[in-house]
Amino acid sequence: MTLSDPITNLKGVGEKRAKLYKKIGIETVGDLLDRFPRGYIDYTSPVSISETVLNEYNVICCTVKQIMQPARIRKGLTVFKIIVTDSTDDLTVVIYNNPYAADVFKADGEFLLYGKVTGGFTRREMNSPQVIRGDADSKILPLYHLTEGLTNPMIITNVKEAISSVGHLLVDYMPREILSENTLCTREYAVENIHFPMDDRAIILAKKRLAFDEFFFLRLGMSYLKNHQRTKSSFKMKSVSMAPFEKSLPFELTNAQKKAVSEICGDMLGGFPMNRLVQGDVGSGKTAVAAAACYFAAENGCQAALMAPTEILAAQHFNTLSAMLEPLGIKTALLTGSLSVKEKNAVRRGLKSGEIQVVAGTHALISKATEFSSLALVITDEQHRFGVNQRAMLADKGANPHKLVMSATPIPRTLALMIYGDLDISVLNELPKGRQPVDTFAVTGKLRERAYGFVRKQLDEGRQGYIVCPLITDTEGDSELIAAEKYAEDLKNGAFKDYSVGLLHGKMSPAEKDEAMQRFKDGETALLVATTVVEVGVDVPNAAIMVIENSDRFGLSQLHQLRGRVGRGQYKSYCILITDNPTEETRQRLKIISSTSDGFKIAEEDLKLRGSGDFFGDRQHGLPPLKFAEMSSDREFLNACQNAAKKITDTDPMLENHPKLLEAVLKMFECGENGLN
Ligand code: ADP
Ligand code: MG
Repeated sequence: MTLSDPITNLKGVGEKRAKLYKKIGIETVGDLLDRFPRGYIDYTSPVSISETVLNEYNVICCTVKQIMQPARIRKGLTVFKIIVTDSTDDLTVVIYNNPYAADVFKADGEFLLYGKVTGGFTRREMNSPQVIRGDADSKILPLYHLTEGLTNPMIITNVKEAISSVGHLLVDYMPREILSENTLCTREYAVENIHFPMDDRAIILAKKRLAFDEFFFLRLGMSYLKNHQRTKSSFKMKSVSMAPFEKSLPFELTNAQKKAVSEICGDMLGGFPMNRLVQGDVGSGKTAVAAAACYFAAENGCQAALMAPTEILAAQHFNTLSAMLEPLGIKTALLTGSLSVKEKNAVRRGLKSGEIQVVAGTHALISKATEFSSLALVITDEQHRFGVNQRAMLADKGANPHKLVMSATPIPRTLALMIYGDLDISVLNELPKGRQPVDTFAVTGKLRERAYGFVRKQLDEGRQGYIVCPLITDTEGDSELIAAEKYAEDLKNGAFKDYSVGLLHGKMSPAEKDEAMQRFKDGETALLVATTVVEVGVDVPNAAIMVIENSDRFGLSQLHQLRGRVGRGQYKSYCILITDNPTEETRQRLKIISSTSDGFKIAEEDLKLRGSGDFFGDRQHGLPPLKFAEMSSDREFLNACQNAAKKITDTDPMLENHPKLLEAVLKMFECGENGLN
């Protein structure tokens, strides 16, 4: 048998079961081995029956006291009851309609049972427990994701056979030195023990190896992508003076902005496509940098396009770009889905003829109907909202255009290299002069009324404010969480009945969201109650106060992003974090966010406190699916993976001398040699 054999080559897997496997994406024996358990039943430390916790899953070790006569309750329902015992108490095992499961108890000796214990003090029950014999070899059993008709025991049997027949065929593509330097187990050991671990230590070793592989290949893949770009040629631009652009700005560029602009122009002067990320904290002025890049391209007789994730951001960018570029004689336009067909056609004609030099827009930019005459620069804003593929699609509109990505999510360098390793990075680590930090306070719910009073005072002075809460409606029955809809209703009728209150949440349609946001921008709403959708790049300089409910529920970086919505104008701004969570971790986190406004420092602390899980858990990163990276991993571990990969890419960036590694990288990114761009 080989890893690529169809799953039907395993015993007991016929057409019917193969169909079920296919439903969950498993077609070959190798696929099955790749499908790791979601958890384990650990039978190694049973509790005594008298100590079982009611309504929870428990493991007990017992012998059979009595097997009752099966009771036929009604047609199609037979109940089997077995009374089991240990030295402390009895318990009734209840099994419905499954004589085979009941028969297991006819054997002699001890049994280990795993199941939910119900009942009361006088009578404990366990319904349909998972049973193994007390003398079983492996006492830690995997739990797999199931689908209707496919049971855990079935999968266990199939995986066992797969491991014993093809486990030895799992090649270890990882160079030996890397294994020993990082005390990693072999791949064969890892796969075997992620499914059937002997003990906890084996699980830890296996997970460590598999997580290492994921980070390692992610880094290799990014480096491969980056070098792959270098093989293509692109618009080679000539040097043009940036002085007219800089002179026409209403402010002087910060040093960080100047540096980023010169790095960008430098890239475009070379013959290879630029692939650069501008990472800047909220309010650091990324749009002006983008405008400078557009100016440079336009002066070179080329077109530039800037794509934003929402209509409102696209419009905001268009306003900025046109204000900065039109006076310099550069024709700009906006292209979004909500324009009339006539308007869209007019813009598209202008893009095709080359009359329009700079365009801002949404996904409409990448639709088939949009053609350019000489697109040489594509810029995407807030990159984590777009997948790697969407970036590539816009780029396809030109012939290897220069690519610039703008991200407002400061992330620690180690992670940036994993996530954006295919890009060169410019960092805007400096805010424009005169920006006042947002005064931030953490308070408990007891002070809520006072916080409202403070907000009213701000609104009375003509400012606007946000109140952010994590959920839309109280569906999860978590009464502690404040649900935005009801919350907004209460505020409208209570504390803010004399003010105009708006609502913005993720369940609204894009048009509704834009409308709510536009009303706030136009000053029609004074107070906006919102979920985290307000996080992305919206610029309302008059907003000076933000209250964040359940602030312990947010990651530090997310809090920082949210807070960045205020303090964007000339007004002194405030952020009040409300939480009733008394834990030390919460206290520490809120202390960090209250004491600094440096997004990079905050991200670094977030990584230290919570591990990498938050960064990779966010599905919007557009990376290949990661199974283990989503688990919290500490910085040292990330660095180790990073260094191991770097050792290889330093001497062999295209992996020409490491064919096995290359194969694994391409498999991870799920594409053929030419699919990467
Ligand atoms: P972000 O990096 O968050 O996207 P923006 O590009 O929206 O930031 O800029 C935030 C605000 O700062 C805008 O109102 C912009 O006009 C202003 N700004 C940008 N650069 C400077 C600068 N060098 N000096 C003063 N104000 C600036
Ligand atoms: Mg922005």
